[in-house]
Amino acid sequence: MKAYRQGAGEVVFPMFMMDLWYFVFLAPGMLLAMWAQWRVQSAYSWASGLGSSVGITGAETAAAILRAEHVSGVAIEPVAGQLSDHYDPEGKVLRLSEGVFGSDSLAALGIAAHEVGHALQDAHRYPLMAVRGALVPMASLGSGMSWFVILIGTVMLAAHLALGKVVLLAGIGLFSLTVLFQLVNLPVEFDASRRARIALLQNGLVTQEEDAVVAKVLDAAALTYVAATLTTILTLLYYIWRSGLLGGNSDE
Ligand SMILES: [Zn+2]
Repeated sequence: MKAYRQGAGEVVFPMFMMDLWYFVFLAPGMLLAMWAQWRVQSAYSWASGLGSSVGITGAETAAAILRAEHVSGVAIEPVAGQLSDHYDPEGKVLRLSEGVFGSDSLAALGIAAHEVGHALQDAHRYPLMAVRGALVPMASLGSGMSWFVILIGTVMLAAHLALGKVVLLAGIGLFSLTVLFQLVNLPVEFDASRRARIALLQNGLVTQEEDAVVAKVLDAAALTYVAATLTTILTLLYYIWRSGLLGGNSDE
């Protein structure tokens, strides 16, 4: 369910930003993230115990949908870990985790179908999928470098160096690339789940009742992306406020 490349949307929590305001700003995002994590875990373990009436595995589900949608050239492979499922658009590989690949539970069907949703986006040239792909390297740079540039800017400001503010703003600009990635990623994830449920129903792989179970798992997963997006937006607001752009105090 995660983005196909780790790191792009990661939020870095720099130690030097450990002030109370940081937690005031971030609290809503952190609480939502914790709740979403709990929900996705409980929905996943609940739906993992429910078998589907069709009785095919996650891997078979993925293959069936790809066949029905006339998408060829996509490999389906098992991958280690829990909820480590992802679609790699460059290699055209759909990697399904151990609990999904060989399992015939409704959780497995839903997650496999969601990843196929990404393969369908890729095959049908869904525009935001391409935008997301283009943003991945920039967002990785943003999440990897921004905290360091912001740190340098903060130190320079504290030392009353002339370019401190410019460096600080450059760091915030870098971080906003991560926010941009998250904002593009969100509709891509919702669209993949939408495609997944339509494909499962249209191809007779789930009943209406089973679709409701699949929806619970996919909605919980979507909530983790909402929480991640909210957290990066709040972090950006915190940085902007701290830099004094929103009338906050930057020289403490
Ligand atoms: Zn996804």
